[in-house]
Amino acid sequence: MSASALLIRGGRVIDPASGLDRLADVAIDDGVVREIGPGLTALPASRVIDAQGCLVTPGLIDPHVHLREPGNERAETIATGTAAAVAGGFTTVCCMPNTQPALDNDTMVHFVLSRAEKTGLCRVFPVCAVSKARHGVELAEMQLMARAGAVGFSDDGDCVASAGLMRRALAAIKATGKAMMQHCQEASMTGGAVMHAGVVSTRLDLGGWPREAEELIIERDVRLNRGIGCAYHVQHMSSAGSVEIVRRARAEGQPVTAEVTPHHLLLTDQEIERSGFDTHFKMNPPLREAGDIAALKKGVADGTITVLGTDHAPHAPETKQVPFDTASFGIVGLETAVALYALALVEDGVIDWPRLIAMMTIEPSRLCRLEAMGLGMLRAGGPADVTIIDPSERWTIRPANLAGQSRNTPFIGREVKGRVVGTIVAGKLVMSRR
Ligand SMILES: [Zn+2]
Repeated sequence: MSASALLIRGGRVIDPASGLDRLADVAIDDGVVREIGPGLTALPASRVIDAQGCLVTPGLIDPHVHLREPGNERAETIATGTAAAVAGGFTTVCCMPNTQPALDNDTMVHFVLSRAEKTGLCRVFPVCAVSKARHGVELAEMQLMARAGAVGFSDDGDCVASAGLMRRALAAIKATGKAMMQHCQEASMTGGAVMHAGVVSTRLDLGGWPREAEELIIERDVRLNRGIGCAYHVQHMSSAGSVEIVRRARAEGQPVTAEVTPHHLLLTDQEIERSGFDTHFKMNPPLREAGDIAALKKGVADGTITVLGTDHAPHAPETKQVPFDTASFGIVGLETAVALYALALVEDGVIDWPRLIAMMTIEPSRLCRLEAMGLGMLRAGGPADVTIIDPSERWTIRPANLAGQSRNTPFIGREVKGRVVGTIVAGKLVMSRR
């Protein structure tokens, strides 16, 4: 909205990358952070933003978002998805390749980048397909896509099922310097599965999705990768056993990272029964049990899980307002992420705000190789991507708070604490609640 100079005054400035955590002002001009320090004077014509009581952080980065363009613009577009992003404090989102057609070649990379340039409110970087058309048969052209701007590779929505293809993918992706991001699902175990395999699925007589379907793929991939050493990232981890596998791999020095979503930290399979089969509780991977949540939190606390991602998955109403069996998987997450992570991780004493911010800024920046662009950090001379969070503001999640095209979230009506009040992308205040 405004490209003029900004002065963010009096906030608690947190930059996990440099360890900065102090009360200070942040002066921004011409898209760049000019100075961080106490008592700065506003440039003439500067807009002054009062950030007292707020956290002033590097712009948040979501490494796992579905923007649905091209192919399913009824659910979301780059324009509406980035509106959701900045409403939630994200200045960078990495979009998954399961569009129609898939993001599996350099032309598609150019398409996403140019649409984002024209219609986006924040930075958008594509995570591109591992296999052509995401069919899991033939490797896509990693080098071409990496050169065009792909920031990572995944067949997300589907797992790279073939071990042979996976081995070649790890070698090819390693040569690009990017990360392989796996949607871990052994599909031979999840046919007809619509929820976690456990007591509840048995009682409800719904197809069960066992934890092992996730764990086996991680085990396999870590083993395949041992002699290759590609950066390997577990997307949307849901199972206690998975945490243990990643913990062990990291202890061995394997280049393995993992991410967790808000819903897998806050909801269990019991919600499906309690809500009378509300399809907003249908996720891939599925919501599991309290023991899994405890293990995921422990994984966050001890640094096994280092990245937070929303897996923002917009769906048009007609694909959710159907019987549970046939409904789409997934929920939107960009607008509600900060409050829900604060609820799951900070209020519960798992981690503090600076670590939460690290897991939403510098950690995903490292994963997606965005450090060289200065993203995920806040420092003088760097790009002015800044998020302002009021950690004590209470609010209720309502459809009107959701800026994206789709409203599919089970958190409607939930009272939460912690709200993004300002989002600045490249020096422009693109969202302000003050
Ligand atoms: Zn996925």
